Amino acid sequence: MKVIVIGAGVVGVSIAARLAQSGAEVTLVDQAAPGSGTSSTSYAWVNSNGKEPVAYYELNLAGLEAHERLSPQGEDGWLCTGGHVEIAIDEHHRADLAARIERHSKRDYGVEIIDVDRARELLPDVRIPEDAKMIVHYTREGYAYPLKYLAHMLGEARKAGATVRTGEGSAVVGLRAADGGAAVDLADGTTLRADRIVSAAGRWTARLAALASVVVPVREFTEPGDIVVGYLAVTNPLPVRLSRLVTSPWLNVRPAGGGRLMLQALDLDATADPGNVPGPDSELARTFEERLKALIANTEAVQIEQIVVGQRVMPDDGRTIVGPAPNLPWLYVVATHSGVTLAPYLGDAVAAEIMGERQELFDEFRLERFMQDSTFGQPYAPRKPGQQ
Ligand SMILES: Cc1cc2nc3c(=O)[nH]c(=O)nc-3n(C[C@H](O)[C@H](O)[C@H](O)COP(=O)(O)OP(=O)(O)OC[C@H]3O[C@@H](n4cnc5c(N)ncnc54)[C@H](O)[C@@H]3O)c2cc1C
Repeated sequence: MKVIVIGAGVVGVSIAARLAQSGAEVTLVDQAAPGSGTSSTSYAWVNSNGKEPVAYYELNLAGLEAHERLSPQGEDGWLCTGGHVEIAIDEHHRADLAARIERHSKRDYGVEIIDVDRARELLPDVRIPEDAKMIVHYTREGYAYPLKYLAHMLGEARKAGATVRTGEGSAVVGLRAADGGAAVDLADGTTLRADRIVSAAGRWTARLAALASVVVPVREFTEPGDIVVGYLAVTNPLPVRLSRLVTSPWLNVRPAGGGRLMLQALDLDATADPGNVPGPDSELARTFEERLKALIANTEAVQIEQIVVGQRVMPDDGRTIVGPAPNLPWLYVVATHSGVTLAPYLGDAVAAEIMGERQELFDEFRLERFMQDSTFGQPYAPRKPGQQ
């Protein structure tokens, strides 16, 4: 079978590698460098924490387990395990945590309530508030280095014989049925033909699918602070003992390699605008620095070296889209938030489905759900500047 995979982010590269290893003749195309889309601006927390309903929880758990299985130990690995500690200091947060723990305990997710002393053992330099309402350790969660993962999978794809075409000339500008299969027109005038096309175009999915007159409800950025955008800040190297993720009311922090830390603060995302990204001298950088100094000791010398505005791949109801386009069996569409968590599982399962093994776990995530009553509830409301 000949397959063209469009999009060389973590999702498309995983699918291309597994398809090639399954014996398909694969061409992977991208309008830019591999990994240069959303995959390069991700907090990359690998988890199934608070992912509901249960089908979405199971999908993300399968992603976490696939990373655990695949990531080599030591320097070659991309997955950093060690868990995640979440600290609640007000009643509202405590109640939310308690509800999540109840669900997770039933599912054997790997979660424990810990006291301040244990929290200090796990996070020696974090200033754990004496009056914390609840502290929880999610023992299996971790974070990944997405481009290290992507590099591994790209190598697997090439080793299995996939052809990789990237750069402006490889932008897909046409997508249509042809000769019992499909054809893809590239910006450089080339036409590629295949039996199946996989769209793994991330936040560009709606535009790409529109080339084949298919409506795929994946949001695009409209205004600062809407749900698709979020800041990530990276510090200079700091003398801090931190080997796991920590989530607190004002700041989420994880190691970013070489002593650097990656910071995220969802309430600050209200001003996030990809066309106007604050620099290391901005007021936003100072706010990140002050929050870090308040949370973690030995960070007096912190300097934010880089702020990026990441653009999420956000289907209208927030959940994964995976499966053939209705009435176009040659076009298979994958678009998802939490794509770093999900990529290795989606790689395996999408390749298996395209090669003929229907995946029941995908049944709640088909495109058809947008045409009928959804079990997933209301779409996200866009976040406006000033709102949390
Ligand atoms: C701020 C932020 C925090 C996040 N945190 C997490 C987290 O903690 N955990 C987690 O699991 N996930 C997280 N995510 C989400 C995760 O990063 C994404 O879901 C994932 O990177 C999506 O990968 P992708 O391969 O689908 O998309 P991308 O990496 O964007 O790849 C899509 C590719 O398609 C190509 N393309 C598009 N259109 C065309 C065309 N017409 N022709 C050719 N090529 C085309 C693009 O150039 C791009 O390279 C976060 C995202 C953001 C923004």
